[in-house]
Amino acid sequence: MAQDRGENKRRNKELAGDRQDAFVQELKRILIEKRDQIRGNIDLELNDLRQSEGHHLADMEDLASETTDESTAFHILELEQAELSQIERALQLIEEGEYGKCEECGEPISIERLRALPFATLCVECKKESERRGG
Ligand SMILES: [Zn+2]
Repeated sequence: MAQDRGENKRRNKELAGDRQDAFVQELKRILIEKRDQIRGNIDLELNDLRQSEGHHLADMEDLASETTDESTAFHILELEQAELSQIERALQLIEEGEYGKCEECGEPISIERLRALPFATLCVECKKESERRGG
């Protein structure tokens, strides 16, 4: 009977590996969708910004509000571009088979964390550490 239990344990481990694989494939699909969506958004927003550059502004009040709108738009663009590069990095790591490992300490990042944040490249501990350092 002890032998049987050992056999079961091995099988369970293999299954866990398969599940991990399926999980990574699922995240890859989510990441690609998200990447395309963000790319689309960035294109639209860049177009908007280009069009608004041609505006003739009536007075200083208009100018002030226009500037605020544009700086908000630029800020959103910046955030989206940062997210896009994180997603591309995660997709690259999936291709290299290095996905899910912390880039700082090399420890596996928890599945819960990856599920919540598919493009995370740092484990919770290293993320906290980098935030403490001001990152
Ligand atoms: Zn780490």
